[in-house]
Amino acid sequence: MKNYIKQDEWAVIEEGFHPEFNEVTESLMSLGNGRMGQRGNFEEKYSGKTLQGNYIAGVWFPDKTRVGWWKNGYPNYFAKVINATNWIGLDIEIDEVELDLAQCEILQFMRVLDMKAGTLKRLCTLRMANGHELEIESERFCSMSHDEAGMINYSIRPLNFVGKLKLTSYLDGDVSNRDANHGEKFWEEIDKEVLGSEAYLCMKTKVSPWENVPRFTITSGMRMKFFQEDKPISPSSLPVKHDKYVACQYELPLVTEEKTIIQKFVVNLSSENHAVDQQLAYAKKYLNEIYHLGFEVLLGEHKDAWAKKWELNDIVISGDVAAQQGIRFNIFHLQQTYTGEDPRLNIGPKGFTGEKYGGVTYWDTEAYCLPFYLATAEQKVARNLLEYRYKHLQKAIENAGLLGFDSGAALYPMVTMNGEECHNEWEITFEEIHRNGAIAYAIYDYTRYTGDESYLLGHGLEVLIGISRFWSQRVNWSEAKQKFVMLGVTGPNEYENNVNNNWYTNTIAQWTLRYTLAGIEKAKTDTETWEALKRKLQFREEEETGRWAQIVAEIHLPEDKEKGVFLQQDGFLDKELLTVDQIPEHRPINQKWSWDRILRSCFIKQADVLQGLYFFEEDYSLEQLQRNFDFYEPMTVHESSLSPCVHTILACKLKRVDQAYDLYVRTARLDLDDYNNDTEDGLHITAMAGAWMAVVKGFGGMRIQDGSLSFDPVLPESWKSYSFRVGFRGLVKEVKVSKEGVEIKDLKR
Ligand code: BGC
Repeated sequence: MKNYIKQDEWAVIEEGFHPEFNEVTESLMSLGNGRMGQRGNFEEKYSGKTLQGNYIAGVWFPDKTRVGWWKNGYPNYFAKVINATNWIGLDIEIDEVELDLAQCEILQFMRVLDMKAGTLKRLCTLRMANGHELEIESERFCSMSHDEAGMINYSIRPLNFVGKLKLTSYLDGDVSNRDANHGEKFWEEIDKEVLGSEAYLCMKTKVSPWENVPRFTITSGMRMKFFQEDKPISPSSLPVKHDKYVACQYELPLVTEEKTIIQKFVVNLSSENHAVDQQLAYAKKYLNEIYHLGFEVLLGEHKDAWAKKWELNDIVISGDVAAQQGIRFNIFHLQQTYTGEDPRLNIGPKGFTGEKYGGVTYWDTEAYCLPFYLATAEQKVARNLLEYRYKHLQKAIENAGLLGFDSGAALYPMVTMNGEECHNEWEITFEEIHRNGAIAYAIYDYTRYTGDESYLLGHGLEVLIGISRFWSQRVNWSEAKQKFVMLGVTGPNEYENNVNNNWYTNTIAQWTLRYTLAGIEKAKTDTETWEALKRKLQFREEEETGRWAQIVAEIHLPEDKEKGVFLQQDGFLDKELLTVDQIPEHRPINQKWSWDRILRSCFIKQADVLQGLYFFEEDYSLEQLQRNFDFYEPMTVHESSLSPCVHTILACKLKRVDQAYDLYVRTARLDLDDYNNDTEDGLHITAMAGAWMAVVKGFGGMRIQDGSLSFDPVLPESWKSYSFRVGFRGLVKEVKVSKEGVEIKDLKR
């Protein structure tokens, strides 16, 4: 856990430079706008610890799979989010000494992520090796109003010298991924141009050995503006071109105390949105447009766009600055990662903040992120998340086929970019199949929240039938138990593999089958459409629905009646049942214990049975919840960032507010405080939606009942009050909870 970030309600502040945590700060201070994103790297050269990262939504490369023991069904490659052209670079040389922040004496330093404005600012004074002291100020953003553009306003002020500045503003396409499996670089250059103070670089992803893998082209363009003594100047520019690199170089006099301002306007266009043969021409036009609008106008538009987002999304907590900063930090990053404009995109566990995790889409999207977007964005945003899975249905059917399933059974990948599996640990790829259930559950969640059944009855039902066919083939009849069983699975708790009858997986499979059967009954009211769908899916209605109903009735759901708990899997009670507080010195167990010891232990990585009680709470009594919570929470180590939020929600339901609060703080400040020592790899974006759920569904007690929203709020001791807004069926509800009571207002959307 680190404590170097200053607490502030609207900003994330690093005061004084902490080079040892630089990669953590770079992750925390990442910027994005749904189309592109950039880690909080320095513009200048930095030879210290840094992970350079610039990502363009939807752009990936099939990185060759590296694996020890190959298993049939593994993917040949991982579709990996890749680092794209570095567009922020400014190399600075003063009197022939290169400016490298790692080689300077830093006299004063402040890096600020302004979450209200959506900008990253830096102010630093430093002494170079030659004794020159200077002040640098920079501000940049990825524009929310022009989502293929980014801007930097950078100034240098000499404090004790008169000298000569050599500035090289560049676009560098020679970038790589630290997590590349074979150290390969993924880009080749296809075109470049330098024209005065403008430069363009077109990069294309390399040819891959696999068929049908798209190649992406990114055209980046930059143009510079200069000011000295607040007046525009037009210094002459020297063009520089190398392989995969273009730059404009300038020489300028520096006068003591006078500011030289460099503004860099950048566009990054992707072949996902622009025909390749028109990219360069469009980049020129687009760049010209933003250049003439100017930094201040663009910043104003960007701030307005953020103000609109905050208007609906903000959660205000008074009396607890740490909690306030934590929740805004989470909301801020969720908004930057996914704007919902494009159904081809999704929410990566690291968003635009790091490379780890390869592909972008996990069950996290459906189980954790969907509720956030349902309540804080237009309906189409959540619907686009569902459409994304519909578009991948055929691939999910092919994926199931690789594992030996047939007749339209669909198994969605554990991790994906384009519908194909991007994960290859057999116990997860082949066995962590509960993900399929979350995709079905999301259809239900969307439908009950919005009241819009059109997705369910159209694309949704096709997805549900594919998933139900999978469950139906994945179970088998056990003569011994006289029940349907599901063998060899991994539940959400990844600290157990290859178990039989994981309660959560069996429960969500049973639920999916029941929900699909109900969906079919609804669909049958429109005979013509239903018959057409049956033909399309070659659906053997009587036979398939008959078997599904039988499975619903006869699936084995392990439980211990005496203890009154559901069993995470068959045989769970054979374990030595310890509690987490008995092993404080062994945590985190994933870093301190062998895998074998973890698997044999009772310790639980993340909500598993409790995940099921959270999803299907209406089917269980408060007493059942309490017994299971009291049994499983003490064994849960919460070593997945997705875990504490579910436990917070359940603890609130049980009115254990102090416990809920302790769990919540871990969720909301996970990255800010670097609890798990892994923020340097990127932020836990999907868990951030969990933090939002912990406030709104946990403390706020928001539920949907009979087509209406209900609230059952509790107030943590250290908060004076909190308030949030949620959009619901054309209305905005504002909920304020304080010691004085609860106020709920309807506002116009
Ligand atoms: C969790 C999974 C999750 C993944 C990505 C893992 O550590 O166990 O449930 O889908 O991280 O967030």
